[in-house]
Amino acid sequence: MERLQKVLAQAGVASRRKCEDLIRAGRVEVNGEVIDTLGAKVDPATDEISVNGRPIRLEEKVYLLLHKPKGVIASVTDPKGRKVVTDYLRGIKQRVYPVGRLDYDTEGLLLLTNDGDFSQRLTHPRHEIPKTYHAMVKGVPHGSLLDKLAQGIELEDGMTAPAQVDYVDIDPDGKHSLIEITIHEGRNRQVRRMFEAIHFPVVKLRRVRFGFLTLEGVPRNKYRHLTKQEVKELL
Ligand code: URA
Repeated sequence: MERLQKVLAQAGVASRRKCEDLIRAGRVEVNGEVIDTLGAKVDPATDEISVNGRPIRLEEKVYLLLHKPKGVIASVTDPKGRKVVTDYLRGIKQRVYPVGRLDYDTEGLLLLTNDGDFSQRLTHPRHEIPKTYHAMVKGVPHGSLLDKLAQGIELEDGMTAPAQVDYVDIDPDGKHSLIEITIHEGRNRQVRRMFEAIHFPVVKLRRVRFGFLTLEGVPRNKYRHLTKQEVKELL
């Protein structure tokens, strides 16, 4: 027997917390009976569970690593009809969604899953999973500015946590530089905003690492399944 909200989250209904809200709102039924308090346990193999009157389907869990191209929304649908990341997942029948965010203009490593628990854990600030980016910026910021970024910088939504920042490559004519930055948070457009704050705007951004995972062996636009061992190690 498992907790109802856990089963709902595992079925990809929503995050565990949102599933708790759905239960409290009286939108979940088990064997035809509304369950509106937390604490109920169910047997996913035999109990009939529905949300908003629709039976949930317990899908096999899937964990994917996509090499997202730029110009694609890290979402499942887009009201404006732009390309979305799930367009690159031919052959995956489960309803997966991105773990955290990656901007439309950012390329690189994006995890996708239908496991709500996994997703919530990995994006929870407490886990502080390091994410490494290669940022091509206009001009060549002085080392002291990179130190400032590394120590923490004031953004509209508060100070950033310490980061690791270093040059990867500097254009000989000084027009651009490639900088590697590892952050442990996941605020909206954080890397772009950090470089804007020191007046060196990002012209190209690529996520190259998420925890211990890299893009190695995954060409742009392609994905691979995580191994069972990788999933275990991430949690
Ligand atoms: N920081 C950004 O600015 N954009 C991303 O997509 C990810 C991190």
